[in-house]
Amino acid sequence: MENKRYRILLVEDDRLDQMAFKRLVKEESLPYDYTIAGSVNQATQILGGEKFDLVFVDYLLGDGTAFDVLESIVDTPAVFATGTGSEELAVKAMKSGASDYLIKDPSRNYLKVLPEIVKNAIRHKKAEEELKQYPEKLVELVKERTEQLAEEKEVLAVTLSSMGDAVIAVDAQNRITLFNKTAEQLTGWRFEEVRGKPVDNIIKIVNEQTKQPANSPIDSVLESRGIESGSDHDALIARTGRECPISATAAPIQRNDGTMAGIVMVLRDVSQQREIDRMKSDFISSVSHELRTPLTSIKAYAETMLEDRNMSDEIRREFLQIINEESDRLTNLINGILDISKIESGTIEIVRKPINITSVAKRAAESLEHLAGKKKVRLEIDIAEHLPELTGDENKIYSMITNLINNAIKFTPENGTVSVSAKLVNNELVIKVSDTGMGIPKDDLNKIFSRFYRVHRPGKQIQGTGLGLAIVKEIIMRHDGRIDVESEIDKGSTFTVYLPVATHPAHITSR
Ligand code: ADP
Repeated sequence: MENKRYRILLVEDDRLDQMAFKRLVKEESLPYDYTIAGSVNQATQILGGEKFDLVFVDYLLGDGTAFDVLESIVDTPAVFATGTGSEELAVKAMKSGASDYLIKDPSRNYLKVLPEIVKNAIRHKKAEEELKQYPEKLVELVKERTEQLAEEKEVLAVTLSSMGDAVIAVDAQNRITLFNKTAEQLTGWRFEEVRGKPVDNIIKIVNEQTKQPANSPIDSVLESRGIESGSDHDALIARTGRECPISATAAPIQRNDGTMAGIVMVLRDVSQQREIDRMKSDFISSVSHELRTPLTSIKAYAETMLEDRNMSDEIRREFLQIINEESDRLTNLINGILDISKIESGTIEIVRKPINITSVAKRAAESLEHLAGKKKVRLEIDIAEHLPELTGDENKIYSMITNLINNAIKFTPENGTVSVSAKLVNNELVIKVSDTGMGIPKDDLNKIFSRFYRVHRPGKQIQGTGLGLAIVKEIIMRHDGRIDVESEIDKGSTFTVYLPVATHPAHITSR
């Protein structure tokens, strides 16, 4: 600012005054680049083509007055100069737009104050301009902030609505202020219906086991003023009365001064985790059962044989046969567990070679004739001769087919029928295993291929681990095939396997 030079227009017709001004600038080294106009006419012309930081204008000019010049000045500060005793005139000039005035005295003392007046006039004009722009700037600023806030609000709203967890906020009086989409889905209430309502009337949490009302983490936050979680057995009772296992966490919403503006609570639907936990514990108990049963029987038969020295060869043979079958059961179970862990770790190996599927399917079906006979289940085998070769892992395909037939026999009561067929349909190998057994409930149909999943059959003691179909499905997928199941309760089930026949050369892969 100090180094800035000012462009000044001096409008003055008195030559002596002009000279006095020039001298002042020179002697005081004032930072002025000035132009001098000697009349209104000249001043108007100059002002039409040039811009100045300040116009210094004498009142009386040969062809008019300072007021004529003031008329053609728009944004430039103007200082009005007049002789002694014309203060009234000076006031009038100020009203007409002059920024300041100066009273010229005959001994030209006014020149001493001139630099200060110039500086002030320019400064005032600048401040005035800024002030003029302020409302405009304010409007702009408010607009900008409003847009910013709206955008932030929108981002927050979208984030909240796309969250997989239910988010519910309450004010200091525990009235609902926020309820996202997931909260609506989980509770069955819409935000419009619950806004402003006490949260306890809407969010009902119970203990899953006792069904007694559970402590809401919101109440705990009110006491502790810190983050709080519910228990591991919390369940939410939805508007419809439906119960859903949840994990609940709540945290205080604090203002800058530390007081509590409300509480935010997050509810997560944990039904899937609970289902997995249930399946795992079912699996552990069924595996231990599955291991114990054959072991108990092996031990019992072995002990009897050791104790009874006079046992007939025939009975001894029969016992050994049982021990042998039970050991096979154990081996199958252990192999199944190993297969599943290989599937989980992605290390199951498929050895691809051309397979004679007619012979593999026949062998698989015939290996279970004995079991079917023992259960008095008729086993019908219809394997087409000369089926085209399949490229794949013979052992895995064999075990996939036996697994399906084994299940069919297991879930079919006495005098039922299990049919196994294999044929070529539309260039695909179609293997069907149907039974006239107990069937599978509709709700379970898409779950039976999951690891450890077993259909809950109250009152029926059927052995198993829930691994068989998961392995079957993985084997089929690894051979680029698919499996379908149709079933009707107490009528029977049909599992259909589709496998592409050999189109690619034999090779060996491992993952
Ligand atoms: P597991 O037989 O060891 O229980 P699987 O994975 O082989 O396990 O089968 C999963 C579930 O599917 C079984 O618990 C059973 O209820 C059902 N299932 C499979 N095959 C049949 C079938 N042929 N008929 C009726 N239910 C079946």
